[in-house]
Amino acid sequence: MSNIRERAESETKGHSIMNTHGERAAWFLGGAGVCPPVAAPAGKIYRLLLLGPPGSGKGTQAEHLKEALNACHLSMGDIFRAAQELDEEDRTPAMREALSAMSEGRLVADATVIALLRERVRCVACPGGFLLDGFPRTLAQAHALEGILREQRLDLTAVLYYDAPHEDIVRRISGRLTCRQCKSVYHLEHNPPPSPGKCGVCGGELYRRPDDQPEAVWVRLRAYERSTAPLVAYYEERGLLRTIPAVGKPGEVFERTRKCLGL
Ligand code: AMP
Repeated sequence: MSNIRERAESETKGHSIMNTHGERAAWFLGGAGVCPPVAAPAGKIYRLLLLGPPGSGKGTQAEHLKEALNACHLSMGDIFRAAQELDEEDRTPAMREALSAMSEGRLVADATVIALLRERVRCVACPGGFLLDGFPRTLAQAHALEGILREQRLDLTAVLYYDAPHEDIVRRISGRLTCRQCKSVYHLEHNPPPSPGKCGVCGGELYRRPDDQPEAVWVRLRAYERSTAPLVAYYEERGLLRTIPAVGKPGEVFERTRKCLGL
């Protein structure tokens, strides 16, 4: 990971990450990525963490919040999914190992994800604030984030904890379909695509992410219980935790999110 620019270039060689994720170029490309200039919002700057088990709807809530707060949705999982689109030979050994962990539902090594976040420190310090989704997932990552924020003289606004029962989670994840092309997410029950197997936005092919396959879902839930659940107490002790029941429709959960942030 010594030469950030070289690595970012190799990770994006010949691919359209810049085009599809142009508004988050610095997040997808790390050191080499340049975002359009961001003006600080006229009101409060929000620096939020989104915490919760896989399938609790953090990503969907982050997309709603992005509209409401004009802050970037920074998802660590999105970085890995973007790297998954690269040809095998264009992936660094660390990225290959990360993708193999991800497809089995395991957590990627702390050292890898912490290094990826450090390369994206500009996103953490962005004047528009941020919505960090999927990081931290372990206490070691939480400590690393605390260090980065301290170095940048920044404070978190809050940690939004989306709490959902395990049965709901398994049902949600197993019905989830993602578009290969534009990454739109559908659900067989709650948000079915207009025609089976085809994205209603771009016509792309819908597929079930490898980490959404039932065996991987159980591995992810166990990883969550073991490594991520202790973060609830960690942020509660720091007075930052806001618990939001993640049951019901995404719009209902967003209403709770709004209320909780006083929006
Ligand atoms: P997500 O989209 O947040 O569910 O992330 C998808 C997968 O990426 C996870 O199941 C992990 O394999 C990996 N991943 C994402 N963020 C992290 C993290 N902070 N620490 C370790 N692994 C991660």
